[in-house]
Amino acid sequence: MALSTEEVESRTTGTSAPAKSDSPIYNWPATPKVKLGISGAEPPMTDVEAEFQQTLRKFALEVMRPIGRKLDRMTPEQIIADDSPYWEFRKKYLELGIELSALFEMPPLERSRLFCIIFEELGYGDGGLAISVGAGILPQYLSALFGNKFLMERFPEDMLGCWAITEPDHGSDTLDPTGTAAHAEGRVSRSNCIVSFKGDKLVINGQKSAWVSNGTIADVCILYAAADTGNGPDYENGCVVVLPLDLPGVSRGKPLDKIGQRGDPQGEIFFNNVEVPMEHLLAGPEDFQRAVYCIHAEANVLMGATWTGAARAAYDLALDYAHERKQGGVPIIKHQRVAQRLFHMFRKVEAGCALTRRAAHYNQSADVPALQAAMTAKVTCTQWAHEVTSEAIQIFGGNGLTAEYPVEKMFRDARSSMIEDGCNELLAIKGGYYLMDEDKL
Ligand SMILES: Cc1cc2nc3c(=O)[nH]c(=O)nc-3n(C[C@H](O)[C@H](O)[C@H](O)COP(=O)(O)OP(=O)(O)OC[C@H]3O[C@@H](n4cnc5c(N)ncnc54)[C@H](O)[C@@H]3O)c2cc1C
Repeated sequence: MALSTEEVESRTTGTSAPAKSDSPIYNWPATPKVKLGISGAEPPMTDVEAEFQQTLRKFALEVMRPIGRKLDRMTPEQIIADDSPYWEFRKKYLELGIELSALFEMPPLERSRLFCIIFEELGYGDGGLAISVGAGILPQYLSALFGNKFLMERFPEDMLGCWAITEPDHGSDTLDPTGTAAHAEGRVSRSNCIVSFKGDKLVINGQKSAWVSNGTIADVCILYAAADTGNGPDYENGCVVVLPLDLPGVSRGKPLDKIGQRGDPQGEIFFNNVEVPMEHLLAGPEDFQRAVYCIHAEANVLMGATWTGAARAAYDLALDYAHERKQGGVPIIKHQRVAQRLFHMFRKVEAGCALTRRAAHYNQSADVPALQAAMTAKVTCTQWAHEVTSEAIQIFGGNGLTAEYPVEKMFRDARSSMIEDGCNELLAIKGGYYLMDEDKL
């Protein structure tokens, strides 16, 4: 707003205090300090988003966090037993009534925001249980993305799913069927699981690795495996099959004992002459590369959101603790080095959140999702979740190392995230390839 002649004169002569414009800045406190909401510097949300987030936050804190901590102290066998708290979690999760079909009907921006909010909040509650939910929806989610009505009807959303892709002899390289990130001397070794095309049937033989999330308990599986259409098994031109796991010939391995994400029950799945009708084929050899690209792009965004939420949970706990714990006569947050540490944790959580939402929005709106955007979210957010949870332990001091406090578990959970869904090293090499512009070579 322009100043009047009198106001200009009074400023230059200094005879009286300048008049103030009606800028809202004059209504600020003299030394502003903004208290942010439950998800940081979040732009205004719609009523639906805010309600959704609050419901999920309550679920995260009241159901997931305590159940996740209980499961963390149990043996892998106890975790999947009939009386395990895992099933209470599963029941209460289903009661939330989150429907993928409803998400698919939303415009891309709304859909991508809600998708991120769901997994940020589940990750806030418990990283391992969030991954169990994420892997649990993949058969139905991919069937919907491929528009396969038969599979969508055959496997309703309340059936617990799993994604079986890695094998004892194939880890990160299963996400790289073209060998983009392979070493020059690399050879694709024999597949451990083969789908043979026999007339109108598919016959599955072999096994998937002990790392399959929900592998020990899932009802339905989205299987990525080598295809044998008559010329021998081939993973580069493999296939994707969605099948129930109660068929004759399917058996499960021992539940996996591991460092973190213990609430996600993992284990091998074995296939011994398992037969399914051809209708269960989601992607044949001609579409296999597309199917790997598609699930990789979706799953890496899901990982970005989940581990952003897990990092925020560790940051929030550390922030509260830094206000409560007195050391040297003051709450430790008054020590500059503690405040500085918290600031770096905060900026990583905020940046991870923004990055994942950006990747989700781009990928949900574009004709073809950008895999490099999804991998950027996954690699960055898992690395930062690892760093933030480690810093949280430092702020808790000795207490942070004990099972009495929740942050050591969060650190163990986050450590695993840098390996799952493709180790970060391979993703970065592959990511570099996606930056290459053939037109400029
Ligand atoms: C918590 C968790 C959940 C998982 N969930 C599932 C699931 O639901 N379904 C499923 O099928 N699998 C799942 N996995 C398996 C996961 O995808 C693999 O563990 C991952 O791809 C790495 O494979 P690997 O463990 O065999 O390691 P390897 O592939 O043997 O690699 C070992 C290490 O070698 C290095 N390395 C390997 N290849 C390269 C390369 N090309 N360039 C540079 N360095 C390299 C990396 O440091 C890597 O960590 C899960 C794993 C974890 C930890």
